[in-house]
Amino acid sequence: MAVNQTSTSPSEIQKYLQLDQKNKIMAEYVWIDAGGETRSKSRTLDAKDVEYTPDNLPVWNFDGSSTGQAAGHDSDVYLRPCAVYPDPFRGSPNIIVLSECWNSDGTPNKYNFRHECAKVMEANAEREPWFGLEQEYTFLGQDDRPYGWPVGGYPAPQGPYYCGVGAGKVVLRHVVDAHYKACLYAGINISGTNAEVLPGQWEFQVGPCVGISMGDELWISRFFLARIAEEFGIKVTLHPKPIQGPWNGSGLHSNFSTKDMRAEGGMKYIEEAIKALEPHHTECIKEYGEDNELRLTGEYETGSIEKFSWGVANRGTSIRVPRETAARGCGYFEDRRPASNADPYRITKVLMTSIFGKI
Ligand code: ADP
Ligand code: MN
Ligand code: MN
Ligand code: MN
Ligand code: MN
Repeated sequence: MAVNQTSTSPSEIQKYLQLDQKNKIMAEYVWIDAGGETRSKSRTLDAKDVEYTPDNLPVWNFDGSSTGQAAGHDSDVYLRPCAVYPDPFRGSPNIIVLSECWNSDGTPNKYNFRHECAKVMEANAEREPWFGLEQEYTFLGQDDRPYGWPVGGYPAPQGPYYCGVGAGKVVLRHVVDAHYKACLYAGINISGTNAEVLPGQWEFQVGPCVGISMGDELWISRFFLARIAEEFGIKVTLHPKPIQGPWNGSGLHSNFSTKDMRAEGGMKYIEEAIKALEPHHTECIKEYGEDNELRLTGEYETGSIEKFSWGVANRGTSIRVPRETAARGCGYFEDRRPASNADPYRITKVLMTSIFGKI
């Protein structure tokens, strides 16, 4: 059972948020925990004339034994700032500070997947890798079933809900829009949103983002979603199959291109990349999230988890080449295998190493 709160987001908070901060700012440090959820805590810093960047922000720490990230006898985990965003909750000049987790002995924490990913992106920088991730997720009601579902029963079969408009088809559009705005305010490269096939399920897209910024921006957008849903007293799940049976699961479709693929004649490089991915299928699946076997059944717009496949405009495959890319002879491809709960640092890293080799 989760904790309950009686009043969510009272409007009285506005008068406090407008108070002068006396030349101080609030910095919300955000990190990723052992379970793939974001955690955060805040601290006061002096207001500066220059912008805060990862280099001029203090390294901080937290109690890793309380998050499953360290043992009690050696519990300090360091937070090393790696990206800074305007804070959409408190407003500028307050900031959000995405941080990597490091152990006290100077090694990256076990759940710090960013460090190795950044090295791979750095080594391949001249390829100009672009990623675009489609984050599907489901709002939950107090009974932990999708939000708006009839108590003890099921809604009418899938069909009217995808990109649906109207009461009875979609829920919580205001939360989706609040999240969209918050991302734009923070400079997140959010490219759109849509209601999904399962009632209560939505998607937002982030990208194209270059290299390591893909993982950074997706993690911050996930933090925003959890934080905004909290204000409305609503739960969000990134589970890839929230409801068993004839209901779509949730993915994190990963669109990818390099400079060569985007240029005229790029289809040749796209085909080479797909060929290179095939023998790495099992290795990729290991990086593509938990419980994905419940989702990748070959039904409900997925390919089978057992077998690599690809096709043009085919949504029942591992990899889809968009119709427009095939027609133009250049562009990008979509890896449809990653689950909604996958870590974007792990996805983008294994795509790069599978296609271009380990560094
Ligand atoms: P779908 O048709 O699969 O639902 P979406 O429109 O939801 O596709 O998402 C497409 C994603 O692909 C977006 O995140 C977009 O930023 C990204 N994208 C577009 N062009 C490229 C490109 N050249 N390289 C990588 N990603 C791209
Ligand atoms: Mn304390
Ligand atoms: Mn999409
Ligand atoms: Mn989708
Ligand atoms: Mn897609």
